Amino acid sequence: MAADFPGAGRIFPRILGRYGGDTPGPLVIGIGGMHGNEPAGALALQQALEALRAAEVPFRGSFIGFAGNRAALARGCRYIDEDFNRAWSRERVIRLRGRGATPDATSEELEQRDLLASLDAELARRRGPVVCLDLHTTSAAGTPFVVIGDTLLNRRFAFRLRAPVVLGLEERLESTILNHLGEEGHVAVGFEGGQNDSPSSAAIHLEAIRTVLATAGCIRTEDLPLPAHGSEDPAADSDAPSPVVEVRYHHVIRKDDEFVMEPGFTNFQPVERGQILARDRRGPICAGESGQILMPLYQGQGTDGFFLVRRVRPFWLRLASWLRRLRIERLLPALPGVRRYQDTPGTLVVDPRVARWFVVELFHLLGFRKRLSREGKLIVSRRWHESRALEELQGQR
Ligand SMILES: [Zn+2]
Repeated sequence: MAADFPGAGRIFPRILGRYGGDTPGPLVIGIGGMHGNEPAGALALQQALEALRAAEVPFRGSFIGFAGNRAALARGCRYIDEDFNRAWSRERVIRLRGRGATPDATSEELEQRDLLASLDAELARRRGPVVCLDLHTTSAAGTPFVVIGDTLLNRRFAFRLRAPVVLGLEERLESTILNHLGEEGHVAVGFEGGQNDSPSSAAIHLEAIRTVLATAGCIRTEDLPLPAHGSEDPAADSDAPSPVVEVRYHHVIRKDDEFVMEPGFTNFQPVERGQILARDRRGPICAGESGQILMPLYQGQGTDGFFLVRRVRPFWLRLASWLRRLRIERLLPALPGVRRYQDTPGTLVVDPRVARWFVVELFHLLGFRKRLSREGKLIVSRRWHESRALEELQGQR
């Protein structure tokens, strides 16, 4: 049943290994295989831990690697009963923390109970800020990329990975483990390290792990030499900043859609408005605007058909970080159509009829994300307790 590529169908332990722990410092949590047909991240975490031990690399803080959906990894499929990386809503996490397993629990619910308990135990013991790295691969080919909620601290880690950075995905994909960890106040970086069955994906992940450990201040890059993996790295020999794109469109597949992607699309391939991208039982699905395609679906399981992304100009990124440093958002409730939401800090209610002209762009710029729409009003909140994590990480420098 399992496909034939490195790590496919392997039985991984929940805890892939740990390193460090003697010197206080950040806790870096690596997670691989949230999707069972993406074993490269779990393999790379094992290799990173082995390499650290072999070279006895001096380490500040601690590093732990977790396997995600172990049952699906063992079968080499994306998931067993439900998508494990769409199961981390606040309500569900609270429910799983509070009660024992029910007889009708899905395979993923059992996995989640176990992983959540391990994560919570690790986090309770931490002696410094927490940096989470969630490793994935895609069913389509194309260059690796980074996925973050747009906080200044997440950006710092993302840009060091020297791959295109995708913003706004977390607004479209609810209840990912990255959202969960981000909302708990930690640095949370997702990395898509190539194609599911590509032999170079684990090596690309390994390099990303080293970069994150070095950025967190746990190791010095030169202390952990890695074998060259020979896959192209467009940014390797330039100091050009990583391109940043934002998600403009998300094609959600519904049950019985009979969705089929047109063949041959790769991540970041440019597409034109009107171009046929996929088909379902209603007919061809065309690009609503020009841009680049991301994560076209070339596997049986999954409900995200494809994404369209567009380049964010560096000017806007600089403006955004400048406005955030000035804490301009404190003035927002003074604008027409905007008020605070109950007593929840960093959360605002926006009436789009009054505040139409500035709503989405301005709130994104200031680091807010859309939480939900209720009775025609929009509820937005500051992304992921940005300031707390930022202060913590800067405090220990
Ligand atoms: Zn994945």
